[in-house]
Amino acid sequence: MAIRRYHYARDVDEALSLLLAYEGRGALLAGGVDLARGPGTDVEGLIDITAAGLGGISRDAKKGLVIGATVTLEEIRTSREARDYLGGFLTEVMRHVATLPLRCMATLGGAVVSAHPWADIPTALIALGAEVAWRNEEREERAPLEELYRRPFRAIFRRAVLTEVRLPAWGGAFAFEKVSRNAGDIALLNCACGLGVKDGKVAWARVAVGATPYRAARLTGVEELLVGESPSAELLAEAGRKAAAEAKVGDDLRASAEWRRAVIPALVRRALERAAREVKGDA
Ligand SMILES: Cc1cc2nc3c(=O)[nH]c(=O)nc-3n(C[C@H](O)[C@H](O)[C@H](O)COP(=O)(O)OP(=O)(O)OC[C@H]3O[C@@H](n4cnc5c(N)ncnc54)[C@H](O)[C@@H]3O)c2cc1C
Repeated sequence: MAIRRYHYARDVDEALSLLLAYEGRGALLAGGVDLARGPGTDVEGLIDITAAGLGGISRDAKKGLVIGATVTLEEIRTSREARDYLGGFLTEVMRHVATLPLRCMATLGGAVVSAHPWADIPTALIALGAEVAWRNEEREERAPLEELYRRPFRAIFRRAVLTEVRLPAWGGAFAFEKVSRNAGDIALLNCACGLGVKDGKVAWARVAVGATPYRAARLTGVEELLVGESPSAELLAEAGRKAAAEAKVGDDLRASAEWRRAVIPALVRRALERAAREVKGDA
């Protein structure tokens, strides 16, 4: 490895100016869980951002959640803010991610930027409609995560620092499901579903499936199928079947496309059933 220098950035300005000064040969270091697996042979400078003022979890005025980029996954899992948000949905998601030692190091920003297609966090954040903020040399920018992932985001973060993730307030309930070979292993499939109910009918639905083995995507056809209908067992089972037809699936070394298509109906139905049970009153 070509690493020659290690910097502790005191704030975002310093992190950004160091990153730009390295002209592509520097890397931001948060938890280091991903970077330790190989930062790239041309990285000369590591810029540690864990003391750059990007910690903290808070509720915003609309009862959404704002999470700093360097908050660790275990900090999220054990925080009161996450427990109070959507009945502890995020607490549940974090419990499914890796193992305790890794969660104590890995950060939310690192998970967003590393964006592994098999990861659980992008699936949950896309279902929630997360918005991310980042600073580049000109300004602060914001975008829904779903949209950011359609852009060349790896190139963006070679010259920018992700600063926070915002999660909107939702009136309904969400549930997360994951299939892996054992607890702590990465997903063979995962999904996050949310439902809001008004006058006994689905007012809104959010369905995201990931590790297909492609990065999580919302299944808008399934969402449309649900809206306006009563969330009966038949409807949720039909939504599961439609999810298998709509999701883009493929083979990788962990599972075949055929297996994934066979499992998606049960996974999505199960998440929708749990969300439907947890919805209290009208959204
Ligand atoms: C063994 C293992 C098991 C895992 N299991 C799971 C799992 O079950 N589910 C799951 O969802 N994920 C899993 N992961 C992925 C894990 O969540 C991510 O690797 C982790 O969150 C990365 O965070 P980090 O802080 O360690 O990032 P780092 O390694 O510090 O950085 C990762 C990348 O992001 C960049 N970066 C970091 N922070 C910022 C920022 N603020 N702004 C711009 N760029 C930034 C870095 O420069 C680097 O390119 C696993 C990873 C490993 C290694």
